[in-house]
Amino acid sequence: MLKAEKLSKNYNGAAALSELDLEVSSGEIYCLLGANGAGKSTTIRLFLNFIQPSSGRATVNGLDVTRAPLETKRHLAYIPEQVMLYPHLSGLENLEYFAALAGHRAYGRGELHEFLRWSGLQREAHDLRVSTYSKGMRQKVGIAVALAKRAGALLLDEPTSGLDPQAANEFAGLLRELRQEGVAILMATHDLFRAKEVGSRVGIMRRGVLRAELDPGELDHADLERIYLEHMHD
Ligand code: ATP
Repeated sequence: MLKAEKLSKNYNGAAALSELDLEVSSGEIYCLLGANGAGKSTTIRLFLNFIQPSSGRATVNGLDVTRAPLETKRHLAYIPEQVMLYPHLSGLENLEYFAALAGHRAYGRGELHEFLRWSGLQREAHDLRVSTYSKGMRQKVGIAVALAKRAGALLLDEPTSGLDPQAANEFAGLLRELRQEGVAILMATHDLFRAKEVGSRVGIMRRGVLRAELDPGELDHADLERIYLEHMHD
């Protein structure tokens, strides 16, 4: 579903990403770990075609994202750390607006409420202005938009940073549900605990290089932390 082939990005001669080879299949949750500046966001931004690769390619369903930007974007949903919503609109109105932007204009109110319910947003909040929402609640509207898009792949950039443990736990549950439905999920995170918990694979990046790929099912939390820290040294 998602594939990077020798994907590289340089800024002013410095490599933000070096020859990344990575594949995320349907029904997989791939967690990218790495220190600040490791190249995780760069990887996600390349898949979204927000930035152009210096060399190599990123494909979605076999299509190069730079050659078929509209078609590949239809298969992708993106949840950044800060979901951007219109504060003066309600959660439901934001969902309606962003679903329509993604080409889904036909949803009735019942269906929109259902997406919000599925994302875990409490019913009383659906019609309140987003300006009154907590970060976790805004994140849930972002998830509802992604669900409404019915995208085959989900790109997440530190989606649980700043969420309380219960909200992060609920979020992990949703990711597992989406995985069961066959969605391919690529998530950049600093949260080793969640990566171990939800990831079907974990990649460790440092200075633009994917240094290791691990199966979290074969490790306990302490092993993952130890291996991660080992890779943070030269
Ligand atoms: P974080 O955990 O802090 O989000 P990250 O792993 O997502 O880090 P990236 O944002 O991908 O890291 O950055 C990788 C490298 O690319 C960093 O050295 C960063 O300074 C550099 N970089 C990213 N965007 C630009 C830009 N627009 N211009 C110049 N350098 C950039």
